Amino acid sequence: MLPYGRQSIDRSDVEAVIATLGSDWLTTGPRVAQFEKDIEAVAGAPATTVTNGTTALHAAYAAAGVGPGDEVVVTPMTFVATASSASLFGATVVFADVEDETANLDPAAVEAVVTDRTRAIAAVDYAGHPAEYDALRKIAEPLEAVLIGDAAHAIGSTYHGRPVGTLADLTTFSFFPTKNLTTAEGGAVASTSPELLERARTFKNIGMVRDPARLRRPDEGGWWYEVHGYGLNYRLPDVLCALGSSQLSRLAQFKAKRQYLTARYDELLADVPGLRLPIQREGVDPMRHLYPVRILDGRRREVYDRLRAAGIGVQVNYIPVYWHPVYEDLGYRRGMCPVAERFYAEELSLPLFVDLTDDDQDRVVEELRTILIG
Ligand SMILES: *Cc1c(COP(=O)(O)O)cnc(C)c1O
Repeated sequence: MLPYGRQSIDRSDVEAVIATLGSDWLTTGPRVAQFEKDIEAVAGAPATTVTNGTTALHAAYAAAGVGPGDEVVVTPMTFVATASSASLFGATVVFADVEDETANLDPAAVEAVVTDRTRAIAAVDYAGHPAEYDALRKIAEPLEAVLIGDAAHAIGSTYHGRPVGTLADLTTFSFFPTKNLTTAEGGAVASTSPELLERARTFKNIGMVRDPARLRRPDEGGWWYEVHGYGLNYRLPDVLCALGSSQLSRLAQFKAKRQYLTARYDELLADVPGLRLPIQREGVDPMRHLYPVRILDGRRREVYDRLRAAGIGVQVNYIPVYWHPVYEDLGYRRGMCPVAERFYAEELSLPLFVDLTDDDQDRVVEELRTILIG
């Protein structure tokens, strides 16, 4: 089966991991700090690494201080973790609809649901296309709500020249193998606010504080540390950070290849009926994580089944988050975000990854064309 996404691992990646295995450090050593610097160089803001994109969101919501009584406005067109990691803190998730063009959180829909209890607003850069953070910031600021960007799809993207990592208050990344670069499991939180970043960093390190300036009793001795708030161990090990730095050194190549394949899909599919192709807004230079087409005329299920039967591993991104029973059981109902639901009903992600060959891409196009033209 041709996958919809997969990693690209080369000899230098393998060597970076092997070298680390023979070094003094397996867990928190020099490669963690190096990878965090390398992420900052791309994201435009300092970062702390974590074990995956889900724990990155958990740490971001911890840093934002969300809890019972708070509302968190979230896009429904995302992987469930964008919402569920806020729900775990006891916050109430409020879903706001998305824009039809990009499937990104719609600022007008956010404006309609915010209240004085809104503590955070979380957008996703769907498929790698940055969300409308400037408009979202205008809504968040007067409420003193924290703006969170789930950039699991978007490391390497820029918006009017500004890198993802500088657009929201807190930005999260995932380094799962299907994403834009991989550390097997891995993720990061970046922030333009030193205070928010420090809170995320402390949370992912069990809440342990060692900085003398922050200690309540700094004179106890060299061994002393304090825990001022609950945390978890979400540390990404040196072995995986070595892989991350090696992967990041090829990010520009990855981006160029993803943009090449996207342009090729755009051209090859331009005249196929029953299909709507993804768009790109003015001023956006996206890392193309997905190639999400829309299958019109109620044929998505049929096209999915027939492509799968032909060995083409298409995917649906995403099931609207509040359709999951965990939210349904809390009283969230279908119909709440109609634009997201229509998008879901039509969406199909075609194979897109760095090592996809032109021949394989041609085969995807031919199969799809045959199904749609009949
Ligand atoms: C992949 C993904 C996550 C979760 O990342 P993991 O590393 O798989 O935990 C969160 N949000 C979005 C939008 C994602 O695509």
